[in-house]
Amino acid sequence: MATGRLTINPELYDAVLFDMDGVITRTAEIHADAWKQLFDEYLDKKKNPASYRPFDLKDDYVKHVDGKPRNKGVQSFITSRNIDIPYGSVNDAPDKETICGLGNRKNQLFSQLLEKEGVKVYESTIELIQQLKKNGFMTAVVSSSKNCHRIIKAANIESLFDTRVDGVISETLGLTGKPEPDIFLEAAKRLDCDAAKCVVVEDALSGVEAGRKGGFGMVIGVNRGDQAKLLKEKGAHLVVNDLCKIRAGRLFKTLPHAVKSYGRIMDKIGGKEIVIFLNYESILSHIDPLPEEGLFYQNIAKILTSLARQFTVFILSRKRPEHVKSRVKIDNIYYAGCDGSAGTPNNATTKDASRNEKSYESPFSFAPKAGTAPSMPNRESVDALINSLQ
Ligand SMILES: [Mg+2]
Repeated sequence: MATGRLTINPELYDAVLFDMDGVITRTAEIHADAWKQLFDEYLDKKKNPASYRPFDLKDDYVKHVDGKPRNKGVQSFITSRNIDIPYGSVNDAPDKETICGLGNRKNQLFSQLLEKEGVKVYESTIELIQQLKKNGFMTAVVSSSKNCHRIIKAANIESLFDTRVDGVISETLGLTGKPEPDIFLEAAKRLDCDAAKCVVVEDALSGVEAGRKGGFGMVIGVNRGDQAKLLKEKGAHLVVNDLCKIRAGRLFKTLPHAVKSYGRIMDKIGGKEIVIFLNYESILSHIDPLPEEGLFYQNIAKILTSLARQFTVFILSRKRPEHVKSRVKIDNIYYAGCDGSAGTPNNATTKDASRNEKSYESPFSFAPKAGTAPSMPNRESVDALINSLQ
């Protein structure tokens, strides 16, 4: 299973958006029980033995209802059993045979079960949220549930979140439910954060899919059942069985001096090829506005030339590779831009030859759409680049 450890670093992210049921609160089990009771009772009443199959807590729950807005979940399951009933309206009585009526009956069953069992939380999630707050992160609870506010109040955790976007707010704003990313994007907007600077934490396949569709910087899948592989397939960058695997904070309090640590670094690398990626905008862009003859440029050029002699060096940029190359003026470096193109060194080197002529052409997949601003290389692009080097 693809599991891992992660430190959520405040230098990379500003906010963490948490799904509620199954991530913060143990209410996913109560929801599952309420769904099963609803559909089993309903299918039983239909009295059609040919199509009757009890609601499956593993298969039907994950495929049709988990993480989705309530009525969307009812519609998805009912359609899967080839049953066609009217949508109805949100105020339909719980015994009315409409999508909304069944949805309201489900809510009634959920409330009864919640009353009986109370709200329990995942302590490891609460600890992580507290750690995030101490480290200056903003946090949000993002849930399709219309009971979200009631549940976090009952669990006494409302103050842990800077904002909340739930089923009620979602309906008022006319947001499309998961797997569309609207609800998470609304939370990011309320926190005044770019999606790329937010982490999404989700246990539902539809929620993970929404996180990826929204372009969030990191999507963490929490595997509460046996669906680690599916969470990965839906796009989770990392899957953990519990959030005790995640911590918040800086990776290093103080970085050791790289030159003084040269021996240790080489020892760790153990003879493997070293590839250095430099970001033109954040590291080298001071070259751009300065006269090329300037001392600063000459020193940087010396360092780059020396690096390129010993290692494979890539310069990644928002700009076109030709532009960056014309500024840096060092041939033995790979230049990669945001337009899907990659410039290769003019001069073949011993390093190139030893790589058996592997192609470096267009490893990027982030060509901007016409009329849109170019974006930085994304995770997939860099992964593709690394894969092309292996
Ligand atoms: Mg959930």
